[in-house]
Order: sequence, then C-alpha cells, then structure tokens
Amino acid sequence: MESVDVVVVGAGLAGLTTAVDLVARGHRVLVLEARDRVGGRTTGQLLSDGHTVEMGGQWFGPTQTEVLALAELHGLKTYPQYDEGDQQLVWDGKVNRTSSDEPRLSPQAAVEVGRLKGELEAMAARLDLQRPWAAPESEEWDRITFRSWLDAASENGEALAFWRLFAPAIFAAEAHEMSLLHFLFYIASGGGIDMLLGTKDGAQDCRLVGGSHLISEALAESLGDRVRLCSPVHTIEHDADGATVRYDGGTVRAGRVVVTLPPALAGRLRYAPAMPALRDQLTQQVPMGSVIKINVLYDRPFWRADGLKGSTMSFEDPLSVAVDNTPQHSEHGVIAAFFEGTHARRVGVLTLEERRAIALDCLQKFFGPQAAEPLEYHEKDWAAEEYSRGCYGGRLGTGVWTAFGPQLSEPLGVIHWAGAETSAVWNGYMDGAVRSGHRAADEVHHALSPETN
Ligand SMILES: Cc1cc2nc3c(=O)[nH]c(=O)nc-3n(C[C@H](O)[C@H](O)[C@H](O)COP(=O)(O)OP(=O)(O)OC[C@H]3O[C@@H](n4cnc5c(N)ncnc54)[C@H](O)[C@@H]3O)c2cc1C
Repeated sequence: MESVDVVVVGAGLAGLTTAVDLVARGHRVLVLEARDRVGGRTTGQLLSDGHTVEMGGQWFGPTQTEVLALAELHGLKTYPQYDEGDQQLVWDGKVNRTSSDEPRLSPQAAVEVGRLKGELEAMAARLDLQRPWAAPESEEWDRITFRSWLDAASENGEALAFWRLFAPAIFAAEAHEMSLLHFLFYIASGGGIDMLLGTKDGAQDCRLVGGSHLISEALAESLGDRVRLCSPVHTIEHDADGATVRYDGGTVRAGRVVVTLPPALAGRLRYAPAMPALRDQLTQQVPMGSVIKINVLYDRPFWRADGLKGSTMSFEDPLSVAVDNTPQHSEHGVIAAFFEGTHARRVGVLTLEERRAIALDCLQKFFGPQAAEPLEYHEKDWAAEEYSRGCYGGRLGTGVWTAFGPQLSEPLGVIHWAGAETSAVWNGYMDGAVRSGHRAADEVHHALSPETN
C-alpha cells in the first residue's frame, strides 16, 4: 500500500497551505482532492473577451496578511476594487443614490444603525477569539438568534432592515439562522463591522489580477504530483499509529491526516472507529450558507458613465447585493451580484432562464435599461456543488458554540482539522483558510517530530 507521512484531504487554500508547510519541513505529503481542480471555494470563469472573473471568493483586505503574503510569494498582484462614484440602496421601491461610503438611510435610521453597531461591537470585544464560548455572557448570547436580539433591540424598521440584510450579505444566511454569539464571534474575527463591510481598506479592498484561484494553482504547482485530483476521500480508518485513507481510486497509509473540509462535509466521511459523539454532533450542526453568485458581462461599464460605482444593496429584491466586478484592463464591464439566504433557496429551484430573467430585472431596476442586454451571464449555485454544499461558509446556530466549540479544531488522535471554519482570525474567509493551514501544519509537524516540541 502507498505510504506517506501525512494525507491532506481537500485542495482548497487550507489544504494546500498545510501541505506546502509540511513539505517545507521535510514531510512526505499527499493531498487528495475530490474535484478535477484545486481551489475549492475559489474558482475562475473565463469570459469570451479572454478575462477571468471570480465565481467564488474574490476580495482581500489589508489585514488579511497571511493570504496576501502567499499571493506575493508567488508573484501574484492585487488591484483595487473599483470604488468611484455613488453607491445605491434600494428601499421602499426606490433606488437611492449616495456619494457617502455609508448606505443612504433616513437620518433616524442612520443614528439607530450606528447605535446598534456600537452595542454589537462592544459585546464582540468581550470575546476571546480562541475560546468564544468562554466569556461570562457567552451562554446567554448563544441562547438567542441574531434576529431575536435585533427585534428586541430596536423598533426602527429601516434600521432593522439594514441589519437583516447585513446577515445574508456576510454569511449567505439569515439573521434568524445563527446565534447572536456566532454573529459576534464572526465580526470580531474579521476586525469589526466596518472592516467586514468596507471597500477601501476593508474586506473588499482589492482583487487579484487573474482571480483568487491563482493562489491555489500556484501552491498546487509547487506541490507537483503530491496533489491528486478526482480523488474523493470516503473513509478514514485510524488507530494510535496512523490512518488508512480510502478514496475513489486507491488507499494510502499515513502517520497523520488533516481534514480541511467544512464541518458539514467532514461529517459525511466515514471514520473507523466512529468519531466521538461531540465531534459528530458538531458536524451535524454547522450548515453551509446559501448563495448563487452571478457575473454579467456588458459591452462596457455603462454605470460608471452615470457616476455610479456599481455597488448596490437592496432591502427588497432577490439580488440583494451587486458590485462592479470588471477585471483590470478590461474594455468591457462586469457586474457581480448575489442571491443570498432565502432568496438563493427560492430561485435555486427555478430554471437557469427563469433565474437569469429575475437577475436581469433586478439589474435593470438598479442600473437602467442597458442592464437588460448583457453579452454573457454566468452563475454558480454553491449549495448545488457536491464538494461544497453551500457558501460562503458554515455557521453556528443557537447553542452550538457553547456546547461544541472546542470540537471545531481540536485534533482527535491522528486526525487534525483545518479550513476557514476553524480559524480564530478571519473565520470564513480565504485568509482564515490559510491561517488554519499554517496552524494544522504546526500541529502535525510537532506530533511527527516530537524533538521540536
Ligand atoms: C461566492 C463566494 C464568495 C466568497 N467571497 C469571499 C471573499 O470575497 N473573500 C474571502 O476571503 N472569502 C470569500 N469567500 C469564502 C472563501 O472562498 C472560503 O472561506 C475559502 O476559500 C475556504 O477555503 P478552505 O480551504 O477552507 O475550504 P474549501 O475551499 O471548501 O476547500 C475544501 C476542499 O475539499 C474538497 N473536498 C470536499 N470533499 C472532499 C472529499 N470527500 N475528498 C477530498 N476532497 C474533498 C473540495 O473540493 C475543496 O477543494 C467566498 C466564498 C464563496 C463561495
């Protein structure tokens, strides 16, 4: 039987980072990837004009230092997200423009949004990111959903609509689908609400020339034939000395295994012996968000000529967020937009033609009649992807952090866990995935080379 020191399950950013770190420390590594490509939740779509747009994760912010360092190491360049002109907020049937960075709300609602933001950030600051379940208030915050907290905290309908939109925009899940504690952990993990929402100097600051999936492709190239595609893992038989990993196409023995799948998918693997109850029950309770991302190619970025930056949020349309996603140096224009949470589930059952028609109706409402005539329409329903089953990531509902928090990343015997969902910092983001890979590689290296401890 083939034998290596470490098998890494999954060739997304977390798995590839783990593998590269371990190879650099002299370990024999095999990465098993189910898809016929690397990159996982990052992937590119080639347009007919020769440019590529991102169908998965795409933006980087200045505090996402680990993923940016990897990009730089491989000679990949960033460029700023287009951010000139007015942004728009759709509310009560009207498309409202504003030149400010803040969404255009009525003055009372703006004050109320600010008050709630202050309260949320003050609560979030009380959490230890390594142990969010351990704050004195954690149990209380884990007992209610973010939505229940909002409804009790304010009576301003417009401010509440803003926060209810914020949840799907960040999590691809509704405010009632996550605990307050999870919401607080997540905003703290990303460095605050302004950071999560922001363009310049925020989480949407810049993109990678050619697309974010190029980082994974560069890492995979450096690993060569240590990455095996089209190799879905189905069984991990483990004992005190190591593990036998069975996948479609073969079997391999290793001293350690690093599983980098989101918890919902990690729970679908067969472990022999079976996982302890707490670990399995955790994986039963970290569902993925629902998102269909679209990229629409136009002859030119006509909204720019109208003084619009493209960024549009809607409190009432199936497409709740739209942005200018034109690749650098393209003569054409691209709008990326998202069906998120409930909207994604509703339109996900329609035909592509029906969904396209709904999307173009929304874009016409946001940007005028020219939006009805695209050159190309591309979409990806991440919940329908067999090896993701949803995005942007896994979320924790009421009671999950406080009952099962440590089980997210604590190694079990020879099995270690990585992936964006396991990161204390930038949880759910590409940077979190990379950080989790570094952490898992450290764990495994110290386990395999005890003299380094
Ligand atoms: C539409 C969308 C927009 C996003 N926007 C952003 C953004 O702007 N900025 C940002 O930072 N993040 C964003 N994200 C999130 C980001 O893409 C992810 O957090 C990150 O890519 C996760 O990396 P990972 O390695 O942890 O997991 P994954 O990328 O999910 O990697 C897991 C890998 O395991 C493989 N796999 C699954 N099952 C098996 C199996 N049985 N055997 C072997 N292999 C298996 C999968 O194919 C995959 O390659 C977005 C995601 C999506 C989908």
